[in-house]
Amino acid sequence: MRVVTLVLLGLLAGLVAATCAAGATTGPTTSSVSETALNAAVARLIATHGEPEGERIRRGVAQVALRWWAEDGDDGAFTAFCAANFIAGDAELAATAARLEAVLEQVDGHLHEVRREVLTPSDLDTGPIGPADRLLASFDLAAHTDEDLFRTKVAFLALLNFPVHSLADRLANGAAWDRRAWAESRMMDRFASRAPAAVLAGLTDALANADRYVAEYNIRMDRLVTADGERLFPERLRLISHWGLRDELASHYGEPGALAKQRMIARVMERIVRQEIPAAAIDNAGVLWCPDTNEVKPVSPGAPVAGAHPAAREPDTRYAVWLANFHAGRALDAYTPTAPTALARSFEVDRQIPEKEVEALLVSILGAPEIGDLARLIAKRLGRPLEPFDIWYSGFRPRAARSESELDRVVGARYPTVAAFQRDLPALLARMGFAAEKARWLADRIVVDPSRGAGHAMGAVRREDKAHLRTRVDAAGMNYKGYNIAVHELGHNVEQTFSLDGIDRWFLAGVPDNAFTEALAMIFQDRDLEVLGVAAPADARDVEALGALWASYEIGGVALVDAGAWHWLYDHPDATPAQLREAVLASAREVWNRYYAPVFGRNDVELLAIYSHMVSYPLYLADYPLGHIIAFQLSEKLRGGTFGAEFERVARQGRLTPDLWMKSAVGAPISTKPLLEAARRALAVAR
Ligand SMILES: [Zn+2]
Repeated sequence: MRVVTLVLLGLLAGLVAATCAAGATTGPTTSSVSETALNAAVARLIATHGEPEGERIRRGVAQVALRWWAEDGDDGAFTAFCAANFIAGDAELAATAARLEAVLEQVDGHLHEVRREVLTPSDLDTGPIGPADRLLASFDLAAHTDEDLFRTKVAFLALLNFPVHSLADRLANGAAWDRRAWAESRMMDRFASRAPAAVLAGLTDALANADRYVAEYNIRMDRLVTADGERLFPERLRLISHWGLRDELASHYGEPGALAKQRMIARVMERIVRQEIPAAAIDNAGVLWCPDTNEVKPVSPGAPVAGAHPAAREPDTRYAVWLANFHAGRALDAYTPTAPTALARSFEVDRQIPEKEVEALLVSILGAPEIGDLARLIAKRLGRPLEPFDIWYSGFRPRAARSESELDRVVGARYPTVAAFQRDLPALLARMGFAAEKARWLADRIVVDPSRGAGHAMGAVRREDKAHLRTRVDAAGMNYKGYNIAVHELGHNVEQTFSLDGIDRWFLAGVPDNAFTEALAMIFQDRDLEVLGVAAPADARDVEALGALWASYEIGGVALVDAGAWHWLYDHPDATPAQLREAVLASAREVWNRYYAPVFGRNDVELLAIYSHMVSYPLYLADYPLGHIIAFQLSEKLRGGTFGAEFERVARQGRLTPDLWMKSAVGAPISTKPLLEAARRALAVAR
């Protein structure tokens, strides 16, 4: 995991970066500037600077007008601003961009440091959280920086003088741009969209409400009964949908009695997505629920069941919450004029890969011939025909040379404290393949902190600051699970350090999108045993390929259902929750019937609709298979003796488009070929 502002995911992403100069005068507009004032500003600037600047003038004035609100001034103020702030000379343009770069690095960097300090008690293991900290958690100075840049007209200066680019512009022309053109292009992402605070707050509230709904949606497994009244799960087992349910289902492979438990969990999931689940059965220890018959009974015979009629189904709350996200997201469309849908913001702005291309990548996995072979292998290992819930088959485990408790001992002895992990960083990075001097340079820029949770990586924002690795070390020392996560987070930190401190232009800091960050962290994580000095299992790479292919196959379909539902919503904006439910279920069945039914031999399964991300992290799911695809493509390239140098080279490219970044990293665009080839090799020797 990497720390990102979660509300930015998908829906809100367009706000910090929408697009396009050519489209600036088309589409929905929120401008307060009259056509007359716009033409007058253009005419006045052309009279001063001449027609050779005409194209830049027309584009710049239109870019400003589109985002100029009544509170920014009247028509007279608009034309006066344009006349006074147009920059004609190239040297002055370059100097202006460089000045904005220097200032914004400090502004964003310091605000990030303030926020890190504010959040220290909730992020780090510093003892009880006090009343001040509970209130400070929602104190965020950075929340209105961008709006302040508009109010002070800094944003308008940039909009008047530099082009705002769409993904289409970058895909068409980006390969020919130099680093300055790329930096200026990225600079403008920030000013591309401007939305009223109330619209943003509406979206934040909708997502927060969705988050709450999901967080409180737990199933009392200890209260589930079979049709014969038998309880299959232990007392007090309470699981969140869908993560907890799925992980529980996956954890039983290989155990006696697994099948009955797994079928019951799948039945629960079906009841949830159809909203047939009795309202009284959600997170209620007072009732017994039989997912097969859908009957609810009080735990103690004769006791009343709280709430309405016990068998009353949950109203379509899941879909009402989803619908509220849609309406809140759609309210933003007018303010992101050139990425004017949540889908465009998710794919073109956030992910920077056209939706059609993402879909083609997913379909190349979903329809790959390797899937059928892999499914046959799984059925053979299970000794039974596959059932639909086997999309969550989890039996890809390397033949480990050491047990987890042995590994716990090795890790605990080496890292008894957080400080011990910090001290070992230069040596660990050297074992990873970085030159000694480079390993020291990296270790100097990474601070290891004791984490309250499982751990996370928090990069720096300005170059004078350091990245932070948050990891959990108990009194008995670090355990293997904690170490495995820490190595993943260290991968994030190393990428963050190279892509900030090791880069020529701050505006280009980072990697193209979230899937790249995760891919680079996974590549570190996969080498955790090797850098611990413990021999990795010989079949580790094969097992990883098979597991990654099966997981990508599973989530790839889920991502198609998610995106399909949003397309349906844009076509049916007045839909009721019940209509959305039927549309989502129809989409789940359709995707299932096309890509899963031929493998599982069963039609019309709706399990793909169970993911909670669809409700609380809209349009995020495609990042998981993309992460696997990108990780395989990169790890093929990074293997071997040049790991350190190659990792540094690819991480220092900066925030180009995913396509350009990958071409210069491995010599080819994003492709599922390396993953499929690795899986084919593994299938050839798998038993
Ligand atoms: Zn991560």
